[in-house]
Amino acid sequence: MNALAQADVLTPAPVRIVDVTRETADTCTVITESSDGAQLPKFLPGQFSMLYAYGVGEAPISISGDPGIPDRLVYTIRSVGAVSKALIAGQAGDSIAMRGPFGTSWPVEQAKGRDVLLVAGGIGLAPLRPAIYHIVRNRNDYGRFVILYGARNPKELLFTKELRAWGKLPDTEVLTTVDYGGPSWRSHVGVVTKLFGFATLRPERTTVMTCGPEIMMRFVVRELAMRKFAPEQIYLSMERNMKCAVGFCGHCQMGPYFICKDGPVFTYPQMRHWMGGLREL
Ligand SMILES: Cc1cc2nc3c(=O)[nH]c(=O)nc-3n(C[C@H](O)[C@H](O)[C@H](O)COP(=O)(O)OP(=O)(O)OC[C@H]3O[C@@H](n4cnc5c(N)ncnc54)[C@H](O)[C@@H]3O)c2cc1C
Repeated sequence: MNALAQADVLTPAPVRIVDVTRETADTCTVITESSDGAQLPKFLPGQFSMLYAYGVGEAPISISGDPGIPDRLVYTIRSVGAVSKALIAGQAGDSIAMRGPFGTSWPVEQAKGRDVLLVAGGIGLAPLRPAIYHIVRNRNDYGRFVILYGARNPKELLFTKELRAWGKLPDTEVLTTVDYGGPSWRSHVGVVTKLFGFATLRPERTTVMTCGPEIMMRFVVRELAMRKFAPEQIYLSMERNMKCAVGFCGHCQMGPYFICKDGPVFTYPQMRHWMGGLREL
């Protein structure tokens, strides 16, 4: 990589906020577009950008929008600290800056002709949403499509309208569960792995993509192993604190891998030895 290219990947470019929509008490979806009419970079489902809130700092955020709509980059951000709080406090017309997109992607091409199972927890549905848009748009290229999604309570479920719409598509099943339901909740209660027993799954012909808290993904992989899903057909998206996003700083190193450039999407065999609790599988 030459110096100019290096400088480019490390220099945030301004983008304009088009809209900020509240999803839950602490999470918003932020739509951005080019601030000078130039084409935004293309992205693949599962990739992330480094978003910079002026005067506050930068954070890696997955792209949660539709890869088929290239003139907007969409992010779903949970406010956990200074940068994420500043990003979702933005309003239409405000400027933020962006580097990327970076990282590996969900295997939507390799999964063609196969069934697809997505398992998400909490905000983990956001990085999976571009893969869902892709599969829904190219529905005939895939077999059975199952989405299992869990959140702490009904108010923390993301994209509920879309989940309902996706669940009505042919040969598509969407199941949701929450840890605590409350009196008006009419669906499943319990951890997301409980949903496996309610879905129609064909392990031998299924590609799995999962994203959520690491502890959740460990239990998901254990459940998949018990049900004889092929390990090399299991893909996980990993999160680690990162700074440069291009493999220089080492903040996001996990064993031999940099999450920023070798991930965030990995196969389970790649992660098996580096994620605590996966070794036994
Ligand atoms: C590849 C990737 C994709 C991501 N995609 C999204 C996304 O789509 N939406 C979203 O809301 N967040 C996403 N995150 C997480 C987000 O980058 C962090 O929450 C970020 O640190 C927020 O910055 P902050 O300044 O607001 O909070 P900070 O002050 O950095 O962090 C607040 C708290 O969160 C902890 N923390 C920070 N980063 C992480 C991390 N990566 N994993 C676990 N704990 C962490 C800190 O230790 C601290 O306790 C992603 C992270 C990665 C690596």
